[in-house]
Amino acid sequence: AKFKEGLAKTRDTFTSKVNDLVARYRKVDEDFFEELEDVLLQADVGFETVMELMEKLRYEVQRKNIKDTEGIQTLISEKLVEIYEQGEQDTISLNIQPQGELTVILFVGVNGVGKTTTIGKLAHRLQSEGKTVMLAAGDTFRAGAIDQLQVWGDRVGCEVVKQSEGSDPAAVMYDAIQAAKKRNVDVLICDTAGRLQNKVNLMNELEKVHRVIAREVPDAPHEVLLALDATTGQNALVQAQTFKEATNVSGIVLTKLDGTAKGGIVLAIRNKLHIPVKFVGLGEKMDDLQPFDAERYVYGLFA
Ligand code: GDP
Repeated sequence: AKFKEGLAKTRDTFTSKVNDLVARYRKVDEDFFEELEDVLLQADVGFETVMELMEKLRYEVQRKNIKDTEGIQTLISEKLVEIYEQGEQDTISLNIQPQGELTVILFVGVNGVGKTTTIGKLAHRLQSEGKTVMLAAGDTFRAGAIDQLQVWGDRVGCEVVKQSEGSDPAAVMYDAIQAAKKRNVDVLICDTAGRLQNKVNLMNELEKVHRVIAREVPDAPHEVLLALDATTGQNALVQAQTFKEATNVSGIVLTKLDGTAKGGIVLAIRNKLHIPVKFVGLGEKMDDLQPFDAERYVYGLFA
């Protein structure tokens, strides 16, 4: 139900537009295809993905000799899922280590995208699965970031390892790992600074943090999750590209999907970056983080 509610904006806009097209055209022709193309582009599905979809649709329509637009929604859904999956099996589930071993999850993303909120939500989610969670306040750059993480730590009831503003994030990570080991914590979630203004700084900082984590815990970080704001549309793609160059992103969390009618961005991201979307943010509360399932998502758009 959460998933459906969160997608209401995208569904209402996108679905009503497609349904309207279907009702107006009745027959599948070139004009219908062109208008459909526009509707998809407006939903931020992305140029390449739309072109690929149109090609597949045209082919299927011809092959199956489809004349009427009625029921074409199902065909669109099928093809969207096909494009999303693209033969690559997504591992939506997180790479969590066996009981007794520490899992380290590193969070990256630009300020304001919902990174802190997502960390809090994920901590809550893992705790409700019976895991002990600790947070590391690795964003020592932005004023207020440490306090904000502490607020989430208090809210979900987990310890936050922190130092003062301006301290070395790598030192915070080191401390946090020692504390997590000492207390037999299952999952350590690490925040990082999200300044993109200086790409070299960002890269250096992430590299250093990465190095410290890898030195202290074998095979860590086990996940590097990039938070992207769905409401920023194609801009999110540009950010993703930058972070992909700066670090080994293993998964994406697409936040604020509830706040946009352009939810098609999720398809564009997958198709363009080949990084799985592991979670979507569908609200501001603790429970508003859901694992992403392409099939459920696409069929949900027309349900
Ligand atoms: P950060 O700067 O990346 O750490 O961003 P924050 O976690 O502080 O989030 C920025 C704003 O976005 C806050 O007001 C959050 O409540 C809001 N936010 C975060 N995730 C979501 C989401 O999935 N849906 C909605 N509607 N708001 C969100």
